[in-house]
Amino acid sequence: MSTQDCLFCKIVSGAVPSDRVYEDEDVFAFRDINPQAPTHILVIPKRHISSVADLTDSDVDIAGKLMVVASKLAGSCGIAGRGFRLVVNAGDEGGQSVNHLHLHLLGGRRLGWPPG
Ligand code: 5GP
Ligand code: ZN
Repeated sequence: MSTQDCLFCKIVSGAVPSDRVYEDEDVFAFRDINPQAPTHILVIPKRHISSVADLTDSDVDIAGKLMVVASKLAGSCGIAGRGFRLVVNAGDEGGQSVNHLHLHLLGGRRLGWPPG
């Protein structure tokens, strides 16, 4: 898929509106349109990466930064103390529906385990 056709690239560019909660030169974060918990934020690289399965050694910095941003957002959203979950779905059986790498930050309720 070209980045022109990618929904999350369009969200980064502003072509598709979103409820943005954080942005820096590398990372964009916005509220999920179909939240599965009181806090459900998607944390994504601005640069198109299709999947966590496509990460390479040159992506170590951005992969780490996504995690750090998600952790800081958990703090600023007030869920860090209670607990929260970061989820990365990959591929068909992993439940990935948008082919632009994203971390789900979920919290604000007790989350079940194991996942469905
Ligand atoms: P996945 O299923 O790929 O792990 O997660 C994709 C997520 O993107 C889903 O939770 C879905 O609700 C969310 N999503 C899909 N389209 C949009 C959209 O247009 N805007 C926002 N904010 N979230 C979206
Ligand atoms: Zn993209």
